[in-house]
Amino acid sequence: MTGVPDPQLTLGPATRMLWRAPDSVHFELGGHAVVVDGLSARLIRRVASPVPTRDPEPVDDPEARRALAALTEAGYLWPRAADPDDLRHAPPQPRLAGELAALAVQHGERAADVLRARRRATVEVRGRSRIAAQLAALVAAAGVGRVHCAADGVARLVQALPGGITVGDEGHVLTAAAGDAVRRAAPEADCTPLPVGEPANLTVLAVDGPVPDDRLGALHAADAPYLVVTLGVDSGVVGPLVLPGLTSCPRCADRHRSDRDPAWSALAVQLSVEGRYGPASAVTVATITAGVAAQQALTFLDGGEPDCIDGTLELHLPDWRLRRRSWPPHAGCGCTAPEDVRP
Ligand SMILES: [Zn+2]
Repeated sequence: MTGVPDPQLTLGPATRMLWRAPDSVHFELGGHAVVVDGLSARLIRRVASPVPTRDPEPVDDPEARRALAALTEAGYLWPRAADPDDLRHAPPQPRLAGELAALAVQHGERAADVLRARRRATVEVRGRSRIAAQLAALVAAAGVGRVHCAADGVARLVQALPGGITVGDEGHVLTAAAGDAVRRAAPEADCTPLPVGEPANLTVLAVDGPVPDDRLGALHAADAPYLVVTLGVDSGVVGPLVLPGLTSCPRCADRHRSDRDPAWSALAVQLSVEGRYGPASAVTVATITAGVAAQQALTFLDGGEPDCIDGTLELHLPDWRLRRRSWPPHAGCGCTAPEDVRP
């Protein structure tokens, strides 16, 4: 930043400041930290105070001005709001203060705008997977304004998951039980279905096996971005997140698998049949998978680039690490070909 730094700078909502010595301070913002020496204790206290100083003295020392400018440029310091209710510093709901601070690390002073945009965003979670309701509750808890769960039938005990369907929901209409989970996490969330023909900003397909072709076809025809999340007995796979026509789709991944294993298409058909004991999954894997999927969905809704575009993020026990597998578009699928030559 060039020019004169605002004398009324203050710590950003996610910045921590620690004193190392009377003239040395350590600023921390997310995974970044910096040590600044030589600022006067008086100036540091003024910056760190939640209350603005009345008639502050101008900062005359050029070194101090440069340091303040650099700290502002890096997002550690923000211009102090003249109005205490300035929207840059205030989340749309008090419970979202943590989200605002987390977004400030990445988006700086735009954090409140990003959070407000989430309020206008829509997500539809489709499928009977154990993680569907929990995932919906997570994105609503992070500030997404409209989150609808679409699933047939009634809730079963195998679907119960902390933060999602409860044990007491057994036998209740699954969509209603999922809506209750969302409202427990975010009472202001709108859980109503979107009007027919209006796709959500992001559709999440929460499944326990391959996604049927007709469901994928309908999303591609509607040009609707979607994220596939697949839960297995001891595995969770997040992705791909598909921008129809632009990025690879699950059928591309199937083609790549078939190239490597000629029996894949026969296996895929059998995988779509529910297991003998119904869908089974470890509660810990389900929860990690829902968390990763929600984080990827939010990155997309916030205008970022999720890592599960043209790939998947996978957890397979007993490995504790998340692995990324790359699934580039497959020429034989044709989903990213120009519209007039798509199959
Ligand atoms: Zn494809």
